[in-house]
Amino acid sequence: MATFPIRIGTPDGLLFEGEAERVVCRSITGDLAILAGHCNFCTALGMGEAHIVLEDGTKREAACIGGMLSVMHGSCSLLATTWEWKEDIDAERAARAKERASEKLAKGGLSDQEYKLAQAKLQRALVRLSVKE
Ligand code: ATP
Repeated sequence: MATFPIRIGTPDGLLFEGEAERVVCRSITGDLAILAGHCNFCTALGMGEAHIVLEDGTKREAACIGGMLSVMHGSCSLLATTWEWKEDIDAERAARAKERASEKLAKGGLSDQEYKLAQAKLQRALVRLSVKE
């Protein structure tokens, strides 16, 4: 299958640079897949499961939490706020974060900002846990 060059990074640095057959991630408007030959494109990323399929067919899964994805002249650049490969996710930590956020939300009495922060923490934890499943 045809491949295209892709770079995946976060503000902390470059995490992957190479050829891929496909990258799948969640944008703010829904899930998307980029294949070779995609037209020039740019979108903001949401929170969700992501994966890339490498030249040899290997699938690498990750949690992607926000950022930007662009395709320019056939080359894809994914700059994520947070990108964690499946093998780097600490499931126990995510379960604890889920527990803390759920308790906070269930307890109530939160300001708008506290509510949004707890919701976002819960979402991040759920994404990490679903990638680990
Ligand atoms: P926690 O309450 O456990 O810190 P969080 O959702 O608030 O969770 P973030 O602010 O999204 O954490 O992330 C802070 C840093 O910790 C980032 O570098 C992120 O990659 C890392 N991180 C957070 N949770 C995990 C996890 N479960 N496994 C691996 N890395 C994690």
